[in-house]
Amino acid sequence: MVGRKANAWAARDSTGHLSQYSFHLRDTSSEDMVLRVLYCGIDHTDLHQIRGELISNTKYPMIPGHEVVGEVIELGSDVKKFSLGDIVGVGGIVGSCGECSLCKSNLEQYCSQRILPYNDIYKDGTPTHGGFSSNMVVHQRFAVKIPEKLAPEQAAPLLCAGVTAYSPLKQWMGSNKNVQGGIMGLGGVGHLGVKIAKAMGHHVTVISSSNKKRKEAMEDLNADVFLVSTDEDEMRKAANSLDYILDTVPVFHPLQSYLSLLKTQGKFILVGAPQQPLEIQAGVMIAGNKTVTGSFIGSMKDVQELLDFWAGKGMTTMIEVVKMSYVNKAFERMEKNDVRYRFVLDVAGSNLE
Ligand code: NAP
Ligand code: ZN
Repeated sequence: MVGRKANAWAARDSTGHLSQYSFHLRDTSSEDMVLRVLYCGIDHTDLHQIRGELISNTKYPMIPGHEVVGEVIELGSDVKKFSLGDIVGVGGIVGSCGECSLCKSNLEQYCSQRILPYNDIYKDGTPTHGGFSSNMVVHQRFAVKIPEKLAPEQAAPLLCAGVTAYSPLKQWMGSNKNVQGGIMGLGGVGHLGVKIAKAMGHHVTVISSSNKKRKEAMEDLNADVFLVSTDEDEMRKAANSLDYILDTVPVFHPLQSYLSLLKTQGKFILVGAPQQPLEIQAGVMIAGNKTVTGSFIGSMKDVQELLDFWAGKGMTTMIEVVKMSYVNKAFERMEKNDVRYRFVLDVAGSNLE
């Protein structure tokens, strides 16, 4: 069907300032669905992207948003997984080849032909557009069902931030509960990382850039240890104590002092995406047989698994719900490390239509 008109907020250039923008959704095929967007989380990747920091060939106007929860309002004839009125989620990818070994083994997020929800080109040659918009089109393979027990605004941050923590912890730690974990950076990804690691049975150390979040981390998130990365004495005492560190920090930071916190054979998992190269000295890696690895979101299977795990345990995300007119202020506050812990845009309640 021919794409309908949608109203959104878009960045026009690398200042990253967003303003109102109307466009036509891509034409739909028989496996596509049209969503009425209800809520959309704001991820730090959105901030990197509107500023043109992640992908060299940045495309403007850019409609960010990849933690999208929407209601299905139109269905192609071959959509079997969902029905009209379903509440579904869209996360960090909206397409892949579907045929390679990665796609066939639930690792489609690493497919060389994966398609990002915005700042990318869809299979039909049109630019992709994210969830800061009244509507969105998605192929059924790249949507998940939001469990009924989960409020849509609560579900939004799980679709990217949550699965970004869940997927590597599952990959590297499996069902081993006897694990000492470290979560570095207590923001959107980090706070969900703490909750997920605790729910997996890990002993969790938060590694934060200041003392400001200590009380919340210990009392609200149930962390076991709170470590301030600038406190050299505390850092020295914590050396060789962790099996893994999930690094969510979005700005440059030399890795040396953090790598020292890992036990022999510990895993340093990069998910934060600073623009500048990070520094590693070989000695600490060699002497401790340590691994530095990276991880990108999670598969569609991981996302569904996390949503069901979260709803099953009655867990909650810590969010601040705001209207679309607040979006520029929200980015400004995110940059200043002033969000507890995720902004979620009330898209349907912002009268974009
Ligand atoms: P966020 O909410 O802004 O949190 C980042 C946290 O990093 C802050 O809360 C802060 O925690 C810490 N931090 C340390 N120095 C900072 C500084 N100078 N400015 C801001 N924060 C600082 O970000 P997010 O949405 O969790 O995303 C974190 C990173 O992960 C981003 O680079 C994002 O692009 C990336 N990401 C990657 C994936 C993936 O698939 N790999 C998915 C989602 C996001 P403390 O106060 O505790 O120090
Ligand atoms: Zn593929």
